[in-house]
Amino acid sequence: MLAVKNYKFWFCTGSQDLYGDECLAKVAEHSKKIVEALNASGVLPYEVVWKPTLITNELIRKTFNEANADEECAGVITWMHTFSPAKSWILGLQEYRKPLMHLHTQFNEELPYGTIDMDFMNENQSAHGDREYGHIVSRMRIERKVVVGHWSDPVVQGKIASWMRTAVGIMESSHIRVMRVADNMRNVAVTEGDKVEAQIKFGWEVDAYPVNEIAEAVEAVSASDTNALVDEYYDKYEILLEGRDPAEFRKHVAVQAQIELGFERFLTEKNYQAIVTHFGDLGALKQLPGLAIQRLMEKGYGFGAEGDWKVAAMVRLMKIMTAGMKNAKGTSMMEDYTYNLVKGKEGILEAHMLEICPSIAEGPIKIKCNPLSMGNREDPARLVFTSKEGKGIAVSLVDLGNRFRLIINDVNCKKVEKDMPKLPVATNFWTPEPDMYTGAEAWILAGGAHHTAFTYDLTSEQMGDWAAAMGIEALYIDKDTKIRDFKRDIMLGEVFYR
Ligand code: MN
Repeated sequence: MLAVKNYKFWFCTGSQDLYGDECLAKVAEHSKKIVEALNASGVLPYEVVWKPTLITNELIRKTFNEANADEECAGVITWMHTFSPAKSWILGLQEYRKPLMHLHTQFNEELPYGTIDMDFMNENQSAHGDREYGHIVSRMRIERKVVVGHWSDPVVQGKIASWMRTAVGIMESSHIRVMRVADNMRNVAVTEGDKVEAQIKFGWEVDAYPVNEIAEAVEAVSASDTNALVDEYYDKYEILLEGRDPAEFRKHVAVQAQIELGFERFLTEKNYQAIVTHFGDLGALKQLPGLAIQRLMEKGYGFGAEGDWKVAAMVRLMKIMTAGMKNAKGTSMMEDYTYNLVKGKEGILEAHMLEICPSIAEGPIKIKCNPLSMGNREDPARLVFTSKEGKGIAVSLVDLGNRFRLIINDVNCKKVEKDMPKLPVATNFWTPEPDMYTGAEAWILAGGAHHTAFTYDLTSEQMGDWAAAMGIEALYIDKDTKIRDFKRDIMLGEVFYR
């Protein structure tokens, strides 16, 4: 489900024909060495492909258009080894439509003090050529990532790696299709939004289906398939009967197994990668999809509750951006629920009615069956766990009426002080940056939602770069946030993004 295309990034080195063939041969040799070293570093999540040196208007234009047409190309990394007159780049850049990085590096790390002469200077002048090139990209108002430093530096390689995931998010955004099996919860404001504008800005397709159409797909799942999945659950998770009859408990779990299989078949058949449900509109479904949705999220599907299609698409997007990451700690829909306001121990208890992705779990995962305090269905089975410690980001995409805003909060996830034995849902607990009080004040001023897309595995920079590429505002709430400055950022956004 999370299989992302075999994406590649093109490495395009700029120069010109003023310096003669010998110099151009060295430029090509150097850029090949850089590409080889980047690919051998083991740091990059995607392959870099070397391209012949770009020296003319025609070749630059042709190469960028080939990048546009190549389905596997997720972006172009540009670097000016020598000077490269930037007017040559205008038409190519104008026609280019994919993510762009400007790697501001140079082949040699140290000044060759003893041997440096004018030939060396002309051959190795990215400090010069990259400024000429950077000027035209800025003048053309093209969004791009600039990374500065020597190509062998692990920090520089890490920045390229991090941007590659953003670029894949930009490319894959327009392949996200969200299935709504219910409308937004009645009277709720923040989960609403302009779906047409979302398709224009992000490329998302958001379609509604009658809940009973998917309920029929659930009903069509055979008892043997369902039982096989229940066996898998019983192998994988701890069973918390809490006094319930084991046979009755298993029947409740089987309802979720049937939903998981039915939903996944329906989504696959109709090519959707994210789904929203609503506890108040379940049609013929016997339980609110809980365990079933948790398992689908773990497989890579996006999810939003109560009709929240923006969160469903964001969760899917962030799962794609983290696909294949070594030691990933997880990505989930989340909801700000209740606070601990004890001084020095402040934090937000994060949970939902049921639907938290087990990818963020730490320790044992247990199945419970409990009544829901809302809705009118039988007690749903759900996975219960607590989450990993460490840094993460909580992201909220809101519709401000005339535009979208992405709010990104750095958060520190912690263990709660004591067990919560009566709480029948999965939880996380975090303190927002810069502190509980400033973080929550800024979040509320920005109009951030109670539902968020949360991950341990991406940075605010990656999500902010994605927002910039989509042409929408990003507001950061992090260690540097001060309310006075934050309010000024909001005012600037009102002027800039119209
Ligand atoms: Mn909710």
